[in-house]
Amino acid sequence: MIGQFDHLMKITDRPSAVMVRGAGSWIWDRDGRRYLDFVQGWAVNSLGHSPRVVLDALVAQGEQLINCSPAYYNEPMGRLAALLAGTSGLDQVFLCNSGAEANEGAIKLARKWGARHRAGAHEIVTMHGGFHGRTLATMAASGKAGWDALFPPVVPGFRKVPLGNIGAVADAITPRTVAVMLEPIQGEAGVFEAGDDHLRALRALTAERGILLIVDEIQTGIGRTGRFFGYQHAGIEPDIVTVGKGLGGGVPLAALVAAERVCCFEPGDQGGTFNGNPLMAGVGCAVVETVRQPSFLQAVVARGAYLTDRLRTLAEQLGHGEVRGRGLLQALELRGMDAKKVSATALDHGLLVNAPRPDTLRFMPALTVTREEIDEMIARLRASLD
Ligand SMILES: *Cc1c(COP(=O)(O)O)cnc(C)c1O
Repeated sequence: MIGQFDHLMKITDRPSAVMVRGAGSWIWDRDGRRYLDFVQGWAVNSLGHSPRVVLDALVAQGEQLINCSPAYYNEPMGRLAALLAGTSGLDQVFLCNSGAEANEGAIKLARKWGARHRAGAHEIVTMHGGFHGRTLATMAASGKAGWDALFPPVVPGFRKVPLGNIGAVADAITPRTVAVMLEPIQGEAGVFEAGDDHLRALRALTAERGILLIVDEIQTGIGRTGRFFGYQHAGIEPDIVTVGKGLGGGVPLAALVAAERVCCFEPGDQGGTFNGNPLMAGVGCAVVETVRQPSFLQAVVARGAYLTDRLRTLAEQLGHGEVRGRGLLQALELRGMDAKKVSATALDHGLLVNAPRPDTLRFMPALTVTREEIDEMIARLRASLD
C-alpha cells in the first residue's frame, strides 16, 4: 500500500506525527496530541506559532498586493530594507527567500568586491563546524564533517580554520583572500560561541589586512541572543551580514545586508523571482518592528537567563555536562546518553527538542516563551532523561 507521504523525497527521518496546528509555544498533531515546541521550525518562529502580528501583516498585505515582480518597487521592500539598515548600522539590503540564498549572495558580493578592489582575490576563510546552507557554494563554505565528499566537484575558494583561533585565521589569509566568514554562535554544530573577544580580534585583523568580515546571523539574528544581531554583543560592525530564519517569523524570508563601501552589484548580477515580494517583506517589517523594541529584547535576555539557570540546575541534579549559548539559543551537553534517543523520547513526552550532536540537545524556543513554559519544558525533559 502506498502511504500518504510516500511521494515525498526522503531527505530526513521524520517521526509519524503529522502537525496540523500551532499557537505560541505549542503545536498539535492530527491525533490531537499537544507538544511544547522548543524547536520552533529551527529558530524560525521568532514570535511563536501563528502570532497575531504575523497574521495581521499577512492579511493586510495580502489584501493590498501579494506579488508584483522584483522588477518594480513595492512599499514593504523599501520599509524592510530601511529597518534592516537601521538596526544593523549598515546601508544596503538584498531581500531573498532562504538563508542559503542570502549567504550565496554574500559570497558573490565578496567575490565581486575582490575582483574590483583586491586584484581578483576571491578566497573566503570559514570555520570548521560552520554551517552556511545547502546550495553548492554554501555547502563548500560550511565546515560540516563529511560534506567535502558530497556532490563533487566541490565549489573551490574556501579555506577552513578552527573556530576561535585568531592565529590560524591570520595564517590562512593570503593575497587571494577576500573575506572571513563565520557565525557568532555556531548553531547547527551544537551551539559554540565564537566569543566577543574573538569577534573583535577578527574585525581588527580583517580591517588591517583590507579584507571583508562576513557575519552569518541567520540563526543568531533577529533578537535570538538578546541583541538584535549577535555581533552587537561584541560592539563590532561587520562589512556584510546575512539574516534569515527568525526574520519572517515563520514565512520564507532572508536578507543580505552590507556596508555601502562593499555594495558593487550592478544590474543583472543578482536577483530572483520571489525576492523582495511584498507579502513576505510586509511580514518581515512586522517582525522586525516587534523584535527591535528595547523592552522586547530585554525580555529575551531575562528569559534566556532563566532558561540557562533551569538547564544548569537540571544538569547538576542529573549529572550532565555544560550549558552553552546565549539568550534563547542554548545547548545542554549530555553525559552517557544519546541525544537523538532523548529527543525521540521527548517527543513521546510531548516536547520538541533538537539534537544537533550525539551528545547535545539544542533549545531555540519562541522569543516570547514564558517562564511557565520553560518550567514545563524542564519537567518534560527531566521525564525524558529518566
Ligand atoms: C539555517 C542556517 C542557514 C541556512 O538557512 P536556510 O534558510 O536553511 O537556507 C545558514 N546559516 C546558518 C547559520 C543557519 O543557521
